[in-house]
Amino acid sequence: MKCPYCGASNASRVISTTHDARGGTRRRRECRQCGQRFSTYEYPVQTMPLVVKVNGSREVFDRDKLIRSIRMACAKRPVPASDIERLVDEIEARIRQLSNSEVASRLIGDMVVEGLRELDEIAYIRYVIVFRELNTLQAVHEEIERLLAHSAEKNGHGPKREPETQTGDPAAQDQLTKPAPLQAKETPSRPPHERDLPE
Ligand SMILES: [Zn+2]
Repeated sequence: MKCPYCGASNASRVISTTHDARGGTRRRRECRQCGQRFSTYEYPVQTMPLVVKVNGSREVFDRDKLIRSIRMACAKRPVPASDIERLVDEIEARIRQLSNSEVASRLIGDMVVEGLRELDEIAYIRYVIVFRELNTLQAVHEEIERLLAHSAEKNGHGPKREPETQTGDPAAQDQLTKPAPLQAKETPSRPPHERDLPE
């Protein structure tokens, strides 16, 4: 290790060693030549797969860029920075678990969407509008409808979602789209949402 003050090589002694949450090691050193103190950091080299963008180009996974894009979606929303960090940690861990040399940017975006849906619904909608390139009010409206159905389901009440893809003959489909009137599961005190009403 070269002293940043006098340039002497391998003349420093380690005064203290500390470890941080990311698995790094910080060493406080003192130069035997000039007596100045400085620190060195050691981090394990973690290889991340290349990110394949929609246009087919590849780039190095950039954690800071990912954090920035999520922060932008969370602007002025009550989302703690620590929650964003944790979401990105989870995404990084999941990407590593795939053990592929490449990962589609679309897949990373899907992971962000999934995480934001649980963190903050407004941030989720903002992100989805950009990420899925929703450019009509109708598309945004449909996304909000899906989100409302999801949060109603998560909270244990509200309309049961119909399967998104329906196959089979029209008669069977008819049965699927016209279920029994209102589910008795609905709590009586809660006014029915518009879409609960029979057509
Ligand atoms: Zn020195």
